[in-house]
Amino acid sequence: MLAPKRLLTALAFFLMAGPAHAADEVVVYSSRIDELIKPVFDAYTEKTGVKIRFITDKEAPLMQRIKAEGENASADLLLTVDAGNLWQAEQMGILQPFTSKLIDANIPLQYRSSGHQWTGLSLRARTLAYSTERVKASDLSTYEALADKQWEGRLCLRTAKKVYNQSLTATLIEVHGAEKTEQILKGWVGNLSTDVFSDDIAVLEAINAGQCDVGIVNTYYYGRLHKQKPNLAVKLFWPNQGDRGVHVNLSGIGLTRYAPHPEAAKALVEWLTTPEAQRIFADVNQEFPANPAVAPSAEVASWGRFAPDTLPVEIAGKRQAEAIRLMDRAGWN
Ligand code: FE
Repeated sequence: MLAPKRLLTALAFFLMAGPAHAADEVVVYSSRIDELIKPVFDAYTEKTGVKIRFITDKEAPLMQRIKAEGENASADLLLTVDAGNLWQAEQMGILQPFTSKLIDANIPLQYRSSGHQWTGLSLRARTLAYSTERVKASDLSTYEALADKQWEGRLCLRTAKKVYNQSLTATLIEVHGAEKTEQILKGWVGNLSTDVFSDDIAVLEAINAGQCDVGIVNTYYYGRLHKQKPNLAVKLFWPNQGDRGVHVNLSGIGLTRYAPHPEAAKALVEWLTTPEAQRIFADVNQEFPANPAVAPSAEVASWGRFAPDTLPVEIAGKRQAEAIRLMDRAGWN
């Protein structure tokens, strides 16, 4: 029993704290464009009453900010793209592991961190794009074959500085070893029709405009440009269907080490892996749901079915430093 005075003090404290619980809010640091994540967060708030505040920036400053905030963290979750970036966050020690039977059941093992520090939410393939005017699909086969003489002066690539290409290279190293991968990359660089581009849309535009005939892009960029330009003379091709499959990467989310609302944040991550959320998230982004029980949108499905590679995506992180060195040696700017 509390003495009356202490009871009053406790009551006053309770009243000062106000009716809103701290856990009615989740704070997300996100490197995804606002309009790509707002619909799914709004749906969650409508369903649960939990408010989601999100701050959008590029992944590097967001990760630095989480690191700098340390125990005074304001972010509960880091949402970003590419396993290479999520792996970096893991290495920086800014995430904490958590396990969930629901997430384990919803998201395949290869799309999660083996240390339980993050999970994939949506998938994208980094695949070939080709000119429907100057290339036949039967001319194409594998990523490796883009190093052949046949493509001399016909290839467009994005810069090696982009993590997407580093992750693709990391998987090549995993499969072929460093020496053979360097040869492949040298072949690609030797076949370039022009300087590397700063983004995937520019690669697709260059193919469409006749500046080159084939390139390597993430699928959702094709989706975005195709929506703007339905007469785009460019198609996607799924390489390596006779061997290891198409390189697949993801967007994903991790719980920060000092998350102020960890339980609410975990509940949000769990919900994000459910069919209800997966459908909204993947459709808005023109990505593939990471939960295999959910079908892609009609638009995404229209690009055709393919066999994805089966490597755990965290290979992209583990071999990232090696990939960057090798790309540099091969002259890929
Ligand atoms: Fe992107």
